[in-house]
Amino acid sequence: MAFWGRILKRALQPARPSSDAAALCSSYSTNAPPQLPRFDHLPKPYKGPSADAVLEKRKKFLGPSLFYFYEKPLNIVEGKMQYLFDESGRRYLDAFAGIVTVSCGHCHPEVLDAIIEQSKLLQHATTIYLHHAIGDFAEALTSKLPGDLKVVYFVNSGSEANELATLMARMYTGNLEMISLRNAYHGGSSGTIGLTALNTWKYSIPQGEIHHVMNPDPYRGPFGSDAKAYARDVQDHIDFGTSGKVAGFIAETIQGVGGAVELAPGYLKLVYDIVRKAGGVCIADEVQTGFGRTGGHYWGFETQGVIPDIVTMAKGIGNGLPLGAVVTTPEIASVMAQKIQFNTYGGNPVCSAGGHAVLRVIDKEKRQAHCADIGSHLISRLKELQQKYDIIGDVRGRGLMLGVELVTDRKEKTPAKAETLHLFEKLKE
Ligand code: PMP
Repeated sequence: MAFWGRILKRALQPARPSSDAAALCSSYSTNAPPQLPRFDHLPKPYKGPSADAVLEKRKKFLGPSLFYFYEKPLNIVEGKMQYLFDESGRRYLDAFAGIVTVSCGHCHPEVLDAIIEQSKLLQHATTIYLHHAIGDFAEALTSKLPGDLKVVYFVNSGSEANELATLMARMYTGNLEMISLRNAYHGGSSGTIGLTALNTWKYSIPQGEIHHVMNPDPYRGPFGSDAKAYARDVQDHIDFGTSGKVAGFIAETIQGVGGAVELAPGYLKLVYDIVRKAGGVCIADEVQTGFGRTGGHYWGFETQGVIPDIVTMAKGIGNGLPLGAVVTTPEIASVMAQKIQFNTYGGNPVCSAGGHAVLRVIDKEKRQAHCADIGSHLISRLKELQQKYDIIGDVRGRGLMLGVELVTDRKEKTPAKAETLHLFEKLKE
C-alpha cells in the first residue's frame, strides 16, 4: 500500500499518538506480534554487519538527504515473494513493495533465471550492435498497449522516462509549456523537479515552463469529485496562465508519492480534450499504476477511459531492475529522429531479458487479478475500520495501490501526523 507520501516531511519526528490511534492499534495488537501464515522459505543465516553498523556507514559515506522509516530502521537482508526478512530472520509481509516496484514478488525465480542466464552470456554491448532481447521485450510491451502506442524507448528510471516524454512533447508540438497536477511526483532529476509538485522534493532551481493546475483530489480538493469543475480550471489556466498553446499535460491516475490520491472520475477524458485543443499531447505517468497493480486494469489510464499519446513506465516494469520506458506513437517518435536519441544502458540485454520475464510472470500468474482480489478485500476491511474509528479520514485507491489517511478531525481533515507514525511502528511490529 502506498500511503507514505504525506508522512515523509515528518518522518524523523518522534511519534506521540492520540488515544484514538492507540485504541485503533491496541484493538489489533497483543503482546506478541500476529502470526504470519506458513511459508516455505527459510532465510539464509545472516553473517553481515548489524543494523547499527550499516546505518553508521550510510551516514558517513552517503548523502545526508537519505531518510528511513521507523524510529529504528529495518535492516532488510533477504526477500522472497511477498515477504522480507531482517537480519535476525524475522519475516515481514511487504505491503510497500519497494515503493510500488516489486510486481511479481521479491526474487521471483523466473525473473531471476532470465537475469542470470542473460548475465552469463552478455551483460552489455549497447544498441550500436544487434541483440534480440531489446526487440523481443519492446514487442511484448507494446502488445499490452492500446491504439497507436507502438514505439518504445528504454531508459533506466522513471525520472529519465518523464524527462524524455517532456522532450518529445516539446519537440512534437513546437510548444514549451507543460501542465502537471499539484501533489504530483514525476521525478527528482533537474528536468523533472519542475513537473513534480510537492515541495518536500523540490530544490530551489529553475523549474522550467511548467504550470501546476488544481489537483482533482476527491478527498481534499475544493470541488470534491466534480471532474468538470477541475477541468474548467485547466482551461482557465491555459487561457490566462499560458501563451494559449501548450506542449503537453502529464498526470498519474493514482498519485503515488502524493498519498495514493485517485483523480476524480472522468477528469482525464475532459482534460485530454482541452489539452489537445491547445496543441498539446497527453502523457500518462504509469510508473506506479502500470502493470496490473490497480487490479481492474493493466494501465491506470484505462480506469479513466482515455488513450494517452505518450506513456511513461518504471518500477513495476522491472520488479526491481533499474529499468524504465517511454512508449509513444510512430508519428511522435518521428520527430525524435532529427537527432540521435541514445541511452547507454537503456534496453541492455539483462534488463530486457528480466523485464520481458516480468511481463510473462504477471500474465502467467494472473497478478493483475490477484491485485484486484486482495485489493478489494483490503479496501472493504479498511472501510469497516473507517466506520469504527474517526481517525480514519479516508480509505482510497484500487487494487494494491491503496491509501489510508489519518486525520485528527474528520471535518477539518487535519493530518494526524504523530498518529500516522505511531501506526507505522505498530504495523511493522
Ligand atoms: N513517476 C512516479 C509516479 C513515481 O512514483 C516516481 C518515483 N517515485 C518517478 C516518476 C520517478 O522514478 P525514479 O525514482 O525511478 O526516477
